[in-house]
Amino acid sequence: MRYVSTRGQSPAVGFTDAVLGGLAPDGGLYVPETWPTFTKAELAAFAGRPYAEVAAAVLGRFAGDEVEPAELLRMCEEAYGTFSHKAVTPMTQIGPQTFILELFHGPSLAFKDVAMQILARLYDHFLGQQRRSQTILCATSGDTGGAAVEAFRGARNVRVVAMFPEGRISEVQRRFMTTAPEANIACLSVQGTFDDCQAILKDAFQDKALRQAVDLAAVNSINFARIAAQAVYYFTSAAALGAPDRPINFVVPSGNFGDAFAGFVAMKMGLPIKRIVVATNANDILARAFATGRYARGAVQATISPAMDIQSASNFERLYFECVQRDAVETTRAFEAFARTGAIDIPPAALAAMQQVFTGVAIGDDEAFKTIVSTLNETGELIDPHTAVAVAALSHAPLEGPTVVLSTAHPAKFAEDVLKASGAAPALPRGASSLADRPERFDRLPADPDTIKAYVRAFAES
Ligand SMILES: *Cc1c(COP(=O)(O)O)cnc(C)c1O
Repeated sequence: MRYVSTRGQSPAVGFTDAVLGGLAPDGGLYVPETWPTFTKAELAAFAGRPYAEVAAAVLGRFAGDEVEPAELLRMCEEAYGTFSHKAVTPMTQIGPQTFILELFHGPSLAFKDVAMQILARLYDHFLGQQRRSQTILCATSGDTGGAAVEAFRGARNVRVVAMFPEGRISEVQRRFMTTAPEANIACLSVQGTFDDCQAILKDAFQDKALRQAVDLAAVNSINFARIAAQAVYYFTSAAALGAPDRPINFVVPSGNFGDAFAGFVAMKMGLPIKRIVVATNANDILARAFATGRYARGAVQATISPAMDIQSASNFERLYFECVQRDAVETTRAFEAFARTGAIDIPPAALAAMQQVFTGVAIGDDEAFKTIVSTLNETGELIDPHTAVAVAALSHAPLEGPTVVLSTAHPAKFAEDVLKASGAAPALPRGASSLADRPERFDRLPADPDTIKAYVRAFAES
């Protein structure tokens, strides 16, 4: 399997280089040269199989001959063995035709574990083969840092430096990073904002001397392996509800559009999906784009679903590329213009192709709050604010037939807002409850790029 860039100016690469490279050198995103497909019989056979086996089958199509099937299955079993639920991503029914897919049973209690756990194992495997080691530098506003630390702790060929803004993340979020005892993890409390952390990250990646001394890597959501790993639960949940004989709808709380695009990938691979509802909070760039055809950045607003406070959805470029029939010249033109002007007018044929699959719905904080209460009252299920955005979207997008709502975080991860909305205090699951007792280990530094780059260099060489 070869991977091409959405901008068309980088050579095609294999799976290993697409995973280790992340972004293509021409600034585009990697996509497979052709979409691998499953037959109806293969799709039906996913029903009732262990999650790790389906993951190995799906990822195997993308890895081609670059990972031994037995080795891939072993990695998937290890990755999903870290989840606290035997079904890995279980479903709960909340209405006659409506099901919540719980993606939060991983070690950091957010859906990012699903992709990060397998990505870490692929990384370590490929780096070991190439006798290389890398240092992952990560700036987090909350969830990504914890998922990365949990996934890479103890990795042989990878060190992680996780930067977070001092006093601006929740205690639970901080402790998921700072209580890892492994020597390959370093946590940095930066005396500044998340924007300061991101600026330092950018500075570090542009510093040639640092990059020469340290093999720096990033684990952002544009890595194709993360998308491939997220396609897996579309297959398992749809098969459980009768696909491929019955088409299934999905409702996806969305920020960077990685999770929702993974559904599109599953569809391209043959899964009969009727509709994907993209549920955003007040940061509604995607909802506006699907409704009006204009993809235009707005100012970022802080909401009670902070992991979705994003106004330019990186993975949207992959969908655009598909919907302009893989025209890399047009994709380059559109996204270079977006970087300059903050807007793209989607060509009518491409918009029609998007609207055939996607509906966008934007949900305000008030409605999300009310949905936490009504869901608790009507079903007994306590949901987090991100999931609430998706559940609320159900009543704005009439859907027929079985519908799966993706639940992306455990309510205890956003305990304060959930308690405020519902009066019910969500408890941390058993595995995470010792978080408060474990010793923390982190360094504090001013938001100064040179100081932090010197720290990263010293850690990488230690
Ligand atoms: C990252 C995240 C999202 C958004 O996912 P995207 O793939 O960026 O669209 C939604 N909910 C939670 C809890 C997240 O951490």
